[in-house]
Amino acid sequence: MSKEFVDVLVIGAGPSGCVSSSYLKKNNISVKVVEKTKFPRLVVGESLIPRVMDHFYEAGLFPVLDSMGFEKKLGARFLRGNEVCLFDFSNKFGKGWDWTWQVPRADFDNALAQEVIKKGVDLEFETEVTGIQFNGTDSVTTVRTRDGETKEIHAKFVIDSSGYGRVLPRLLDLEKPSKLSPHSAIFSHVKDTNREDGTEGTLISFDIIETEVWLWVIPFSNGNTSVGIVGPTDYIDRLSKDGDTAGALRKAISLSDYYMNRFGDVDFLFEPRHLKDYSCSVKSLFGDGFALTGNASEFLDPVFSSGMAFATESGMLAAKLALRQLNGERIDWQKEYSDYILYGVDVFTTYVKEWYTGNLQELFFHQPENPDVKRKICAVLAGYVWNKKNTFVRIHDTAIKNLAEFIKTEKQQA
Ligand code: FAD
Repeated sequence: MSKEFVDVLVIGAGPSGCVSSSYLKKNNISVKVVEKTKFPRLVVGESLIPRVMDHFYEAGLFPVLDSMGFEKKLGARFLRGNEVCLFDFSNKFGKGWDWTWQVPRADFDNALAQEVIKKGVDLEFETEVTGIQFNGTDSVTTVRTRDGETKEIHAKFVIDSSGYGRVLPRLLDLEKPSKLSPHSAIFSHVKDTNREDGTEGTLISFDIIETEVWLWVIPFSNGNTSVGIVGPTDYIDRLSKDGDTAGALRKAISLSDYYMNRFGDVDFLFEPRHLKDYSCSVKSLFGDGFALTGNASEFLDPVFSSGMAFATESGMLAAKLALRQLNGERIDWQKEYSDYILYGVDVFTTYVKEWYTGNLQELFFHQPENPDVKRKICAVLAGYVWNKKNTFVRIHDTAIKNLAEFIKTEKQQA
């Protein structure tokens, strides 16, 4: 069996793995990425939030992404019947990027991976991790290559960025059920032939069908648009009776007064995908000689598009800490990695939960708007969930609930 020796092995070439490996390469660490599939490959997660820009910038990946002409995302629109709530990232509390992109992930991830290769990272496609053995922080990972051969990769540190593959959580028995109630989604892309000119045609929108059910509309610069329905698993299961995902997505579109005309008669560009019970969690984000990043660790819900931002936040932080460890520093992974990442996860968990209770929807659609509250919530939606100067970060668990209660009481008294 052939053997390779590297400082860091990264599992998976999604955004998390690309950010990690690019940062490590920039800092002269020998790093190898193994990726199970051949790119471009389809993956969900097309609406980014501004926080990701910090990571792509720091990893040296911003210029290539900027040259791709992806649709710019300046904010997000939430719809409920005739009510509209528009967030503009340039009107957020605190510092940070005011814009990001909405992207077909096959092209976006391929651009990232090719750039990482250009930077000199050894990225091997169609190579799947099948096993791992640790001896302290050293590890031997077994992979199956494109030619069906098995080989060993010896590494001093492993970053598991395998997304939904969840390689180390499975191999090391780290899986844990999510705290969120089971939700599922069905999505596809359409040729957006009825798209209006101007902002309306390119605006990213979330249309509430029922409190817990919403439709996403993510227009791309290539003329296609991603359309998806999200709801409790039993609702989505009922919609897609007998596995007819195309019928289910058509039915979902017909429930949207706002988008029925635009998408009622368009063809799906691929058989709509059904993603069942997507939320997941782990018992620990790290162990001796490894860290879990992105979706290989925790995934909450698509409603605030936080998935990619956590993928790049954790990918970048794991790479920085691994670099310091390789340089001989002793790292407190609990404090510097897990506690930090889980703080942000906690903030977004509150927002996701309060979205599905309807409390956050009360705040979003309340008139007249409170500009201070809106700016603070906008900063959270932009991904700046570690800025404790923001009360809607610092006391996230009570701020939304209390304000929603206040609005409800005010309505009852009116
Ligand atoms: P991935 O992008 O999944 O990449 C992991 C890579 O690892 C893959 O290429 C895979 O092939 C590879 N891999 C897997 N197993 C192995 C193995 N054994 N060996 C080697 N390689 C392996 N996020 C957003 O930010 N915005 C959204 O709008 C959004 N919408 C979503 C909608 C739904 C319904 C769901 C379920 C998720 C959504 N997400 C969204 C989340 C988003 O998909 C993920 O957070 C994001 O893709 C995570 O990136 P990653 O790099 O961790 O993993």
